[in-house]
Amino acid sequence: MSRKLRIATCSLAGCFGCHMSFLDVDEALADLIEHIEFDRSPLTDIKQVSEQGVDIGLIEGGLCNRENVEVLHQFRQRCKVLVAVGACAMYGGVPALRNGIPVSELVAEAYLGTDVLNPQVPQDPELPPLLKKVLPLHEVVPIDYTLAGCPPPAAAFRELIMAMLEQRAPVLPEDLRRFD
Ligand code: SF4
Repeated sequence: MSRKLRIATCSLAGCFGCHMSFLDVDEALADLIEHIEFDRSPLTDIKQVSEQGVDIGLIEGGLCNRENVEVLHQFRQRCKVLVAVGACAMYGGVPALRNGIPVSELVAEAYLGTDVLNPQVPQDPELPPLLKKVLPLHEVVPIDYTLAGCPPPAAAFRELIMAMLEQRAPVLPEDLRRFD
């Protein structure tokens, strides 16, 4: 392979568990790192996907606020292949448990509840407004592949990257989809 695959990753409404699973490829990472390099990612602390674009975007977590939606659009525009990683990105996951409750009630419970010290709703304009519901990625942009699981096993990340390196579709049988 003449050049390295460039990969961007981010966590939206997720817990970073999917990123931890990616790192679980352990010693295989040493082999992979000869063929890949990271762009925007918590692993590099680069905050934006490069304007020239990247080969693969891996997103964990669903969409819970407007900033998440903006980040997702940038990934879609700048990633040749966009992958929804894990149950939160594919379905909303645990954060979507709030979907049956109005946002005003959620905010009141979190910030004005009787057990809250110094109750007040944060008004900082830098805080992104919450969406009415937590959404999976595919409801906002087209997604190319999914890695199922909570989190997906490390072997699924490895298979995805090997498939992209070999310019084929990833093969993800049942044992590479984990929901424990
Ligand atoms: S799918 Fe599971 S491990 Fe991944 S971000 Fe969601 S809760 Fe965390």
